[in-house]
Amino acid sequence: YTGWEKALKEQFSEEIVHVDDATREKLSKDYYWYSPVLNRQLEHIQAADAVLIPRNADEVARILAFGYQHHIPVTVRGAGTGNYGQAVPLQGGIVMDLSRMDEILEIGPGFARLQCGVRLSIIDKKAREAGQEIRIYPSTYVKATVGGFVSGGSGGIGSITHGNLWDGNVLEAVVYTMEETPQRLVIRGDELVNYIHNYGTTGIMTEVTIPLSPRTDWAQAIAHFDTFENSMLFGEALAREDAIPKRLVAPMEWPIPSYFVPFAKVIKAELAAVMLEFAEDSLPLVEALAARYGGCIGHYMEAKQYRKTIGVSDFTWNHTTLWAMKTDASMTYLQAGFKLDSYIEQIRELKAKFGDEVYLHFEWVRSGGAITPTALPVVRFRSEERLYEIIAFCESIGVKIFDPHTWVLDHGGRGEVGSMERKKRENDPRGLLNPGKIMVET
Ligand code: FAD
Repeated sequence: YTGWEKALKEQFSEEIVHVDDATREKLSKDYYWYSPVLNRQLEHIQAADAVLIPRNADEVARILAFGYQHHIPVTVRGAGTGNYGQAVPLQGGIVMDLSRMDEILEIGPGFARLQCGVRLSIIDKKAREAGQEIRIYPSTYVKATVGGFVSGGSGGIGSITHGNLWDGNVLEAVVYTMEETPQRLVIRGDELVNYIHNYGTTGIMTEVTIPLSPRTDWAQAIAHFDTFENSMLFGEALAREDAIPKRLVAPMEWPIPSYFVPFAKVIKAELAAVMLEFAEDSLPLVEALAARYGGCIGHYMEAKQYRKTIGVSDFTWNHTTLWAMKTDASMTYLQAGFKLDSYIEQIRELKAKFGDEVYLHFEWVRSGGAITPTALPVVRFRSEERLYEIIAFCESIGVKIFDPHTWVLDHGGRGEVGSMERKKRENDPRGLLNPGKIMVET
């Protein structure tokens, strides 16, 4: 890229361009170290040549035009909490950090229009003040940006009721292309599928509109069960019970709850635990349902404690894996889809084969309208070969694996990316947006 760095400094102010080693190193990494496989592959990757931190959409467009003109790759980042190495600039060039574009543009009835760099926790706080709330968010909501969630995440707290990102949880996006003169596209409806979970490969999102729901007073609780199977059956029954508003149903096999150090006093030893968030006035219904499966509500937090202190959701989704890794650095994880009609048999087969090598953690979600037992099992890492043996076994018993140990979109098990590839060719003809993350055949 000889010569372009000089041009960069001439064309953009000091406030935007950062070339010092510390900034380049820090903003060229995300949470890929979650995966021992990705850690091995990415820890020695060279940092980006420059970090650009634009303040508005015009500057985003100017940076994209600059990159196009000089053939420089541009990898965008929000808060950098993705854990597949999505935000790592594999071929150097420019990292564009969008966290400074953090304005809430409008909160209206049933929607929020946002600059891409707003943190999800801030959006939810403002929405709750206006009697509403965000529908789905990852367990990293305190730091994660809305643009990063839409472009690099999938679902989270709230997905048990509202599904994942693809289930109507993005209403509109403003996207810039990487061409000689970048276009500003306004994307709605079916077209959004080419931009959701795209790792910034098909365009750069500067604004996004998400739906809001009426605010609910959420209670938090931990339900305990003698067996993991009973905790799963309770989870399914609760997932199906439309009379109970809920946003979290997360069964965990023992010893996973023992990793939750801040909750050590309230966790019951040797029992399975289900982490719950439900409408406060549904407590009697939840207690009755738990009793039907031989369980009981242990730790309980009233709605007025919501977000005031560490909460139940801080131990769910991929935070479960984080707590496991803090206790035992040899732990890693998988992402899996079990079958609704045979998950108990699948669980039995998996446990019979791997015992203490795989501990089960599920998140009940509604995906494409259907209740689904998705899982983020915690796996003891022995070797990459062994990890892929476990994956192969899961697939042999009909458990679908969404491999979290790859940065390539096409290999993450998310299904067809053909239309995304075609869109990339249109919007990014020189293939400069986050290269290496989507395999465009030329
Ligand atoms: P980043 O990591 O900065 O970016 C993610 C991807 O999107 C990158 O490829 C980046 O290039 C691209 N990108 C960012 N902004 C834009 C933009 N404006 N336009 C185009 N592309 C863009 N994810 C979930 O879905 N659910 C969870 O529950 C969840 N739990 C997690 C728990 C832990 C402990 C960790 C470490 C991660 C978890 N994640 C989860 C992954 C991640 O935290 C979330 O997806 C988060 O929303 C990403 O937001 P971010 O701002 O950090 O994005």
